[in-house]
Amino acid sequence: MHEFTQDVEDLAHEILDYSLDRLKLNPPLDGPSTPEELFAQVGNTISPKGLGGHKALELFKDVLAPACISTDHPRYLAFIPSAPSEYANLFDLVVGSAALYGGSWLEGSGAVFAENQALAWIANMAGLPQPAGGVFVQGGTNGNLSALVAARMDARSKKPAVDRWVVACSEEAHSSIQSAADIMDVLVLKVPADVDGVMTGEQTRKAVDSYLADNPRHGIFAIVATAGTTNLGIIDDLAGIGKVARELDIWFHVDGAYGLAALCAPSVRDKFNGVELADSLIVDPHKWLFAPFDACALIYRDPTIAKKAHTQHASYLDTLENPNEWNPSDYAIHLTRRARGLPFWFSLAANGTDEYTRAMEQTLTIAQHSASLIKAHPNLELLMEPTLSVVAFTRKGWELEDYEKWSDQLLADQIGFVVPSAHKGKPILRFAIVNPWTKEADIEAILDTLN
Ligand SMILES: *Cc1c(COP(=O)(O)O)cnc(C)c1O
Repeated sequence: MHEFTQDVEDLAHEILDYSLDRLKLNPPLDGPSTPEELFAQVGNTISPKGLGGHKALELFKDVLAPACISTDHPRYLAFIPSAPSEYANLFDLVVGSAALYGGSWLEGSGAVFAENQALAWIANMAGLPQPAGGVFVQGGTNGNLSALVAARMDARSKKPAVDRWVVACSEEAHSSIQSAADIMDVLVLKVPADVDGVMTGEQTRKAVDSYLADNPRHGIFAIVATAGTTNLGIIDDLAGIGKVARELDIWFHVDGAYGLAALCAPSVRDKFNGVELADSLIVDPHKWLFAPFDACALIYRDPTIAKKAHTQHASYLDTLENPNEWNPSDYAIHLTRRARGLPFWFSLAANGTDEYTRAMEQTLTIAQHSASLIKAHPNLELLMEPTLSVVAFTRKGWELEDYEKWSDQLLADQIGFVVPSAHKGKPILRFAIVNPWTKEADIEAILDTLN
């Protein structure tokens, strides 16, 4: 180790060739194995003498990689898939080989500068004012938590007498909000959604007023709206909720981990009106902005508040604190960080934002097309018109068991990966379409198995 020998050079070519093949080929869907099956094939890979690079790579290529579902496969439509652009994936190799440190300006100014331009693109599309900024964190869960911690600190400084803090969100909000509340030891006020699953300004106002009337010593430190729920892609009434939050002087956080990516799509942009009122927002480029795992853009309207909440102080760190320098570590719950926004930045810089608009519109078009096919299908019922690119539907007469059996078979046959979800206690199927590789024929191939 730590010597660049001919062996290293040979392995470098093998690894680059493999990476290139993976990028070029239509990847197989693949699927999980059990630990026993994997052990039978690879045994214990950790040994005093080591396997050598060639052998270790072979085990990965032949056994371990096929035991990982290709999340960028065009017929992987479960959960929220991933669809990194070629440029983004290629640049991840650079980030991996350059030992970049993305925590401080002193050490990583070039990387941080580039990441910040990518963040500014998102902040501008959202209509946040000039000083807005933030950091790429690992994922939406960390992004939501970090934003809420900043929000609570801000509220504490304004209302020191409150003895129990509460975050308000829709009953449809992502599980990471509850998780953040548990970590922070705060309560969650669930605002009922309307019949379409949308949290409205009016409902929020009612829920907050009545909660505070019943609990006069409690304080609501943040209202969270979701811009594209994970299950159905529903967008809350951002303008209405943002206005209520302003009137009540409560922090307004927009969780757009999945949906806010579509800010760059003119056909749906107006569905996000009101996002410009956000005190903080998140969007995961690893979901629908064509970046590899893992990257969540966390952006604050006033980053100085976040900096107060998150800067870590230690004798060896204080040398990094220069008022003119942007230290990404200061804006979330982390210290050491990979410059994980760089693959996204590179692809955005190289391809141009028009290309993002085009790719985004294409996924939206396929979602609309899928909805039409489902409506025309004799055995299927569309649950609702897709707001964004999640298409939810049911199969007439099926119980959960039938859905599960079908889903297992679909993967076993390597046709697609679609898992059952639920809506109002009933099982449903959903396609989450974020991949420009997903074509009409892919959707048709899956729907054919539901005849
Ligand atoms: C996916 C998602 C999250 C969590 O993001 P991770 O990157 O998986 O941690 C939070 N909120 C919404 C709305 C999501 O779709």
